[in-house]
Amino acid sequence: MPQLLLRGIELGDVQAVLFDKDGTLSISEPQLITLAQARVFLCLEQVEAALRPGLKDLLERAYGLQPQAICPAGITAVASRDHNLIATATALVQVGLGWPEALAISEAVFAEADARDARRGQTGEVNTSATTDGLHDCLEQLTAAGVLCAVISNDAMAGIEHFLSRHGLASHFSALWSAEHHPRKPDPAAVHGLCAQLGVAAARCALIGDANSDLRMAVAAGIPHQRALGYVAAWRSPPPLLEPHPRIHAWSELAVRS
Ligand SMILES: [Mg+2]
Repeated sequence: MPQLLLRGIELGDVQAVLFDKDGTLSISEPQLITLAQARVFLCLEQVEAALRPGLKDLLERAYGLQPQAICPAGITAVASRDHNLIATATALVQVGLGWPEALAISEAVFAEADARDARRGQTGEVNTSATTDGLHDCLEQLTAAGVLCAVISNDAMAGIEHFLSRHGLASHFSALWSAEHHPRKPDPAAVHGLCAQLGVAAARCALIGDANSDLRMAVAAGIPHQRALGYVAAWRSPPPLLEPHPRIHAWSELAVRS
């Protein structure tokens, strides 16, 4: 069985590597900044002027939106679209709106922000995240050694497939687990569901992610601690990961020995 190595240190035999997408396979920060800014802008348009400063502050803090960065542990970076929508509605309630109105505004704002994003794509502007540096070589090395690769993400299936096909990566991945699968990340049963698709045991996998929720989920699912790996190179400010997990600073640090 292929042996996985990190900076030359043996991490054990693996049959599969499960990759988070946003902030691990992809450099998502520029797109997430644009998306979060659009959601803030559209929300502010929906409320009376007196409420806007307070709402802007609440939304920016909830989204983890900073002038040129997104907090890697915040909801824009980590949570699914519907969790972001609930957080938005909560901010609207906090400035005085009723829940039904807050939810309706949030749904309309998210739909419009998505439509703007789609229009940017149609006009040729880049709306697909870049891959993290050195990813292609790493995936080629893993698949050439017979290690199965899979994606475990809270993005929608269409978003995962679009990203992979846009970068010519789809053929490297044997299975995908999206926000539409049940249960979704970070439930450890999501790892078990994906492992069942791959036909491998969780104990024979590695999982690579940029969020503590990814790493906790991996260990809870039965992936050995030393193979729940934190990827830290996709953000301007490195994600605040749990200390005991090994970190990957560049894909070239990862190697496989057949
Ligand atoms: Mg991530």
